[in-house]
Amino acid sequence: MAYDGAGISAPSKTEWTPSSWRTKPIKQDVTYDSASALTAALTKLENLPPIVTPTEIIKLKKSLRDAALGRAFLLQGGDCAELFSYCSDDPIDSKIKLLLQMSLVLIWGANKPVVRIARMAGQYAKPRSSPMETIDGVQMPSFRGDILNGFDIADRTPNPERLVSAYFHSATTLNYTRAQLSSGVADLHNPMDWGLGHVRDKSLQSKYQRIVASISDSLRFMRTVGADTAGQLQTVDLYTSHEGLVLEYEQCLTRRLRHPANYDSAITSADRKGWYNTSAHFLWIGDRTRQIDGAHVEYFRGLENPIGIKVGPSMKNEELVQLLDIVNPRKEVGKITLITRYGEDKVESMLGPHIEAVKASGHVVVWQCDPMHGNTRSTPTGIKTRHFSSIFSELSSALKIHQQHGSFLGGMHLELTGDAVTECVGGSEGLNEEDLSLNYTTYCDPRLNEKQALELAFLVAGHYRG
Ligand code: PEP
Ligand code: MN
Repeated sequence: MAYDGAGISAPSKTEWTPSSWRTKPIKQDVTYDSASALTAALTKLENLPPIVTPTEIIKLKKSLRDAALGRAFLLQGGDCAELFSYCSDDPIDSKIKLLLQMSLVLIWGANKPVVRIARMAGQYAKPRSSPMETIDGVQMPSFRGDILNGFDIADRTPNPERLVSAYFHSATTLNYTRAQLSSGVADLHNPMDWGLGHVRDKSLQSKYQRIVASISDSLRFMRTVGADTAGQLQTVDLYTSHEGLVLEYEQCLTRRLRHPANYDSAITSADRKGWYNTSAHFLWIGDRTRQIDGAHVEYFRGLENPIGIKVGPSMKNEELVQLLDIVNPRKEVGKITLITRYGEDKVESMLGPHIEAVKASGHVVVWQCDPMHGNTRSTPTGIKTRHFSSIFSELSSALKIHQQHGSFLGGMHLELTGDAVTECVGGSEGLNEEDLSLNYTTYCDPRLNEKQALELAFLVAGHYRG
């Protein structure tokens, strides 16, 4: 179905500032008890240095341009709700390792470079379907992520000091990640432990082992022939991302900075600077806060960063195009990543029309599939889970539908952890609903564990290799 452009109003021409979102209606907003404590926290944040730089942000934007044009694949993953307590070496190390291994498998499969973005070092805010919840018969505010309140029931009142704490946990997580990467944690000359022993199905296990052997052979070959003169095999790029939900925080980290040397748009002397969100390289607008006239869209439209928009089943074709016109009026290729999350039963009817509408609008986006958020289910005993088969089913449908429409899937967006949790059912380990209680530790949505996430990468790679 082609999009005919009817009924679209022109994008807002009003002046954008980092605080212009305050004039718009806002969803998921926060009320603090103490205005003075909030002001003190925001003043502190405004004076702290950027966590990431324009040079890095523009480098990522260029890589995403490649993903939009089909020349690269975007792998994005991490926790649903990152806790401050995950700011510790083991969980960070295991997530870096997992994303690195998945990316190698995807490079092998898709035969393209993989752009890696972690949902980490700032993924502390959660939109909730209800501001209140009932625990043991008592009504209390819902947990909204460590940046706002605590999971502990005594800690549910939003506390502005958490905004400052979020900054320091984010900066510390990224500092450790950068230090590990520059110290060789992602050095592809080192042998890697792929841990495939859990795969019960023998033919599947030998298939995965063949892939790993092929990757290891290629790396060994490159080392032998001295193909690493530029040291490119010694480390990799890993970018950070989070949902840009708490606009007070994001505003304070939004800085007017000089465009970097790698910024190649035709810049006149009058606009050598731009507004960069320096809290992460990439931010996205959630499915609950993407209203055309709302505060979040207003805030995002002024940023230089590449941004994502979650696209759920309630998104209308014309609304999608209208959104793109607002956040990307110059139609920069790859500036926007559309993160589709319909659910395995809705992807067939929704994705094709969205692809056609965007195509007709002239926007060129990164199409990224989030096969997690449309596939959350409750077990009969009320535990939130996701089936590995539903997750893979939405991904395979997305791959197929893009192909049918002369488009291509530019990436995948996953909730995962490097730890051995039992939150999603299925996969080669054969986790079932009775196993969920073994190690169910998420504070929000169920995540793929290390084995399930790696397996998904093998399956997607297999799709490309046929
Ligand atoms: C999320 O990514 O954790 C999330 C809340 O997603 P969505 O906005 O798509 O529901
Ligand atoms: Mn989630």
